[in-house]
Order: sequence, then structure tokens, then C-alpha cells
Amino acid sequence: MKKIIFERDKCIGCGTCSVVCPSFWKMENDGRAFLIGANEENGIMEKDISEISCNIEASESCPVQCIHIKDNN
Ligand code: SF4
Repeated sequence: MKKIIFERDKCIGCGTCSVVCPSFWKMENDGRAFLIGANEENGIMEKDISEISCNIEASESCPVQCIHIKDNN
């Protein structure tokens, strides 16, 4: 299992993640990205995933590097 960790407070709202990986990412009305189905606490969103899928493109294309993919130990 992997985990996506999204530092939502660092998001500048460029929209790239929602374009390259729309099954996981969408833009919210506040102008920042939203990780679909994730838990949010103190500005950090986390979601367990079995397949990295397009999240690798989302992470690598984020201009402020606020999308992280970790091993879920
Ligand atoms: S790519 Fe990064 S900065 Fe752009 S909307 Fe997604 S999380 Fe925010």
C-alpha cells in the first residue's frame, strides 16, 4: 500500500493535478485542489492507495511539490 500526502495549504491552484489525474484530483471552489476521498486534518490531506496510478504524474507536475507519495508502513 502507498499513501498520498497532500499539503493542501501549499497548493497555488494551478490545476495541473486535476488535468493529469482527474480520477483522484479535482479543483474546489476555494481555488485549491482536492484529493477525492481523502481525510483532511490541519491542512493536510491523506489517502491510502493500492496503485499509484496517475498520482505519479500529479506529484511530478505539481509546481510547488505539495503532493507526496509514501510507502504506507
Ligand atoms: S498541481 Fe499542485 S499546485 Fe497545482 S492545483 Fe495541483 S496540488 Fe495545487
